[in-house]
Amino acid sequence: MLSRVPWWLDEAPPDPEAEPLAGDAGADVAIVGAGYTGLWTALELKRREPALRVVVLEAGHVGYGPSGRNGGFLETYWCALPRLRSRLGDEAALVLARASEGAIPAVEALGEDVWLRRGGMLEVSTTSAQDAAVEEAIRVAAELGAAERALPVEPGISPVFRRAVRFPDAATVQPARLVRALRRRALDAGVVETSSIPPRRSQTSSPSSSTAASAPSEAAAS
Ligand SMILES: Cc1cc2nc3c(=O)[nH]c(=O)nc-3n(C[C@H](O)[C@H](O)[C@H](O)COP(=O)(O)OP(=O)(O)OC[C@H]3O[C@@H](n4cnc5c(N)ncnc54)[C@H](O)[C@@H]3O)c2cc1C
Repeated sequence: MLSRVPWWLDEAPPDPEAEPLAGDAGADVAIVGAGYTGLWTALELKRREPALRVVVLEAGHVGYGPSGRNGGFLETYWCALPRLRSRLGDEAALVLARASEGAIPAVEALGEDVWLRRGGMLEVSTTSAQDAAVEEAIRVAAELGAAERALPVEPGISPVFRRAVRFPDAATVQPARLVRALRRRALDAGVVETSSIPPRRSQTSSPSSSTAASAPSEAAAS
C-alpha cells in the first residue's frame, strides 16, 4: 500500500512529538501553524525581542502542510524580476530581489544538514512560445543593472532546450529537514511549541494584541 507520508518526512531525522496544549497558555504572540511561515516568524520575533513569550500552535505535526512536502527549490526573487518589475517598478523590484538574497544564508545559518545545495536554477524554453520568457529574464536583469543575476546559457546543453537562462542565486534543500531544523532552532531560542486542536475562532482585541482560541484549551496572546 502506498504510504501517505511523503518521502521527505520519512527521510528526515524524527523529532519528538510536541506536548498537547493543556489548559490555558499565555503568550505575547501566539502563532498558528508550525510551517516555514510560523517558525521563521517565531525565530525572528525571538531574535528581535528575546524576552517575548512566543507560542506556536500546530494542529497536525511540524511540516504537516506543504512545508514538509514541497519541491525543495530555494529561490530568490532574481528569478522573478520581470514580474516584479511590471508590478512594483524598477526600484522596488530591485529592493525585493536584493532582500531575498538573505534566504540562502539564513538557511545556512541554521547550522543543520538540510541538504542545502547552491546549484543555481535553469529556466529553459523547449518551444518557440517559451523563448520570450527566457529572453525577457536576461534582458530585464541587464536593464536593471543586474546582468550577473540572469546569465544566458550557450545553446547545446541539451538538444531539447532552445534557450536557457541561469540564475546563480538559487539552491535546493530537503524541505522536511528544513522545517524540522527550524523547529529545533525555534525551541532552542525559547519558543514554546505545542500541538493543538484546530482553533475555531480568533479575535483581535486591539491592534497590537490577538487571541487564538481553541476548545477545550485556550492560548491567549496579549
Ligand atoms: C506541491 C508543492 C510544491 C511546492 N514546492 C515549493 C518549492 O519548491 N519551493 C518553494 O519555495 N515553495 C514551494 N511550495 C510552496 C511552499 O511549500 C509553501 O509556500 C510553504 O510551505 C508555506 O508555508 P506555511 O508555513 O505558510 O504553510 P504550511 O506549510 O501549510 O504550514 C501551515 C501549518 O499550519 C497548520 N495549521 C493549519 N490550520 C491550523 C489550525 N487551525 N490550528 C493549528 N495549526 C494549523 C498546518 O497543519 C501546517 O502545519 C510548494 C507547495 C506545494 C504544495
